[in-house]
Formats: sequence, structure tokens, C-alpha cells
Amino acid sequence: MERQDKGGIVEKQKRLIDVKPSADLRWSLDIECPKCNAEIDLAAGDDDNTYSNAIFNNKWDDLVDEEITCPECGHIFLIGSVEY
Ligand SMILES: [Zn+2]
Repeated sequence: MERQDKGGIVEKQKRLIDVKPSADLRWSLDIECPKCNAEIDLAAGDDDNTYSNAIFNNKWDDLVDEEITCPECGHIFLIGSVEY
């Protein structure tokens, strides 16, 4: 009797494992404008994949000294470092 119950549980677990939902990647690369303190998500405006290429290929240092123009105040500044 106990064995049957255990088998039932294993069957249930197997059925749960068969359901394979997709994993969604969400990411942002946030930097604060040093002039107006606006929070800028560089990932959102990454049309030429400059930031995603550097981040997902583990070349974070490639983004150091990358020029950013603040969309809020127009201030131009450089990325000092990328940290997790
Ligand atoms: Zn700004």
C-alpha cells in the first residue's frame, strides 16, 4: 500500500517535470546622470547592441569610458565602471 502511494507521488512529479515553461531574460544596465541624477537604463536604448554584447560576452571593461548622453538634460559623461 505504501509502495503504491510512493509510486503515485513519483508519477505526479514526473508529470510536473514534463511541463517545460520558457525562461524569460530581463535585464537592465542602469546608470545615474552625474549632473541631473536621472536614472538611465542603457539596455533600453541599446539599438546597436553595444551594451548587451559587452555584458553577455563578459567584456564589461569594454564599456569603461563609453560616452553617454543623458536623455533628460543632454549632459555627456563617460562610464567609470560596470558593477553587478
Ligand atoms: Zn542628466
